[in-house]
Amino acid sequence: RMPDIFDERFGKFMKIAIDGPAGAGKSTISKGAAKRLGFVYIDTGAMYRAIGLAAVRRGIDTADAEGVKSILDDVDVAIRHNENGQLIFLNGEDVSTDIRLPEISVAASNVAVIPEVRLKLVELQRKLAADTDVIMDGRDIGTYVLPDAELKIYLTASVEERANRRCRELKEKGVETDFDAVKADIEYRDKNDSGREFAPLKPADDSVYMDNTDMTLEESIDKVCELAHSRRVGNKV
Ligand code: C5P
Repeated sequence: RMPDIFDERFGKFMKIAIDGPAGAGKSTISKGAAKRLGFVYIDTGAMYRAIGLAAVRRGIDTADAEGVKSILDDVDVAIRHNENGQLIFLNGEDVSTDIRLPEISVAASNVAVIPEVRLKLVELQRKLAADTDVIMDGRDIGTYVLPDAELKIYLTASVEERANRRCRELKEKGVETDFDAVKADIEYRDKNDSGREFAPLKPADDSVYMDNTDMTLEESIDKVCELAHSRRVGNKV
């Protein structure tokens, strides 16, 4: 890990929460900002995807909450970091690639509605944030997982732009894409994630609203880093 100016100056760890709808660029931006700031990046969506994948592999309908709950005790989700970022393990198997399939996005969004699934993962997420500087991205990080985060950002972009970005990303990974299908998937998840009862997607009251439809990746990373520095100084000095 890089030497960390925040630790030295204040002797305390900092938490940055980044929430927003699918395809807003949360993970790419968070990863870039984490690298620059010397923070650990934690992708919580990958954890919901891992449980979605576990259910799909066992032939369980992810809309069937009882079915999903019945496998939870046998599902172990863990993360590790290497130089390329976060790896995710399902019962010891590296599933970092498998969880990116489009059908697993929908499975993740379905299992994410189930409170028991969320409580299991939130416990892991809070543990991971306890003893290091983190940038954590997801849907409920600022509102539920890390309510005391020093910086909360609600990151969004128009649905067309988000679908475009997701198509590009999938193409780069060699996955065949259809714009309308990707857009429909994003709209389905937006609705599901915002509409659920337990820890829905919504901006935290004390979050910075950031629409990056017309921003480049670099501009978005700059903005997050700028906010991180200003917030830290504003709070502590
Ligand atoms: O961020 P990503 O698109 O990988 O997340 C996949 C799904 O996991 C989301 O559509 C959402 O339903 C769920 N999720 C969540 N809470 C989080 C992160 C992801 O409900 N903190």
